[in-house]
Amino acid sequence: MQPLMAQLAELAAIDTHLDELHEDLGDLPKEVKDCERTVKTRTALAEETQQLLNELLAFRANAHIMLQEIKDKEAQYTEQQFQVRNNREFDAITKEIENLREERNRINEEQRTSSVKEENILQILSQQKQDLADAQEILNDKEKELEDLSSGHNNELKSLMSQRVELAKTIDIGPLADYERIRTFHTEAAVPLRKNCCSGCFSAVPAQKIVEIRNNLSKMFLCEHCGRILFPEDMKQV
Ligand SMILES: [Zn+2]
Repeated sequence: MQPLMAQLAELAAIDTHLDELHEDLGDLPKEVKDCERTVKTRTALAEETQQLLNELLAFRANAHIMLQEIKDKEAQYTEQQFQVRNNREFDAITKEIENLREERNRINEEQRTSSVKEENILQILSQQKQDLADAQEILNDKEKELEDLSSGHNNELKSLMSQRVELAKTIDIGPLADYERIRTFHTEAAVPLRKNCCSGCFSAVPAQKIVEIRNNLSKMFLCEHCGRILFPEDMKQV
């Protein structure tokens, strides 16, 4: 059976390892999320542009029908103009004809500019599709990276966690509880002495205490400044 301080030193080493593994994954899941958001935004943008293009093409396909309908109506109104019974009716029909002409001009104008518009939309759409493909590629890479790292990490995590469980079983419940409590304040709950200082907060440790720490490996000593558990510099760590 190892002395208490060796057990705690080992436990601290395992926890550091575990923390590192979690840290490694740390940014990657968030990066994947960010990439997913970018892909989503760019997809929506390209879809919107595609919709504009569809509307433009539909308009162009229907324009001649719409124009023909307007012309027919105009002809109808023009005929009616000869059969009016008073000025009021004449004015009303004249107004209708004016409206139809305006509509016809609007459609003609839209038809005239539609090729340039289509060209612009196509250019924008092509750029947006490229941007989307780029974002998708980055997302795929990140997802793959996360997947690889996770599966590698999973094995290591499992092995470390079972090591930790086994080790924890051998440690007395009191010191173990102290360790866990200190770990809620400091990620490294047990730290080695370094050059007669606590390596957690770098405060000097009195010479007398250092001697005690070295000679009482089954007793727990805390740093007076930061409260971390102190173990000798040369204590074996995994
Ligand atoms: Zn300290």
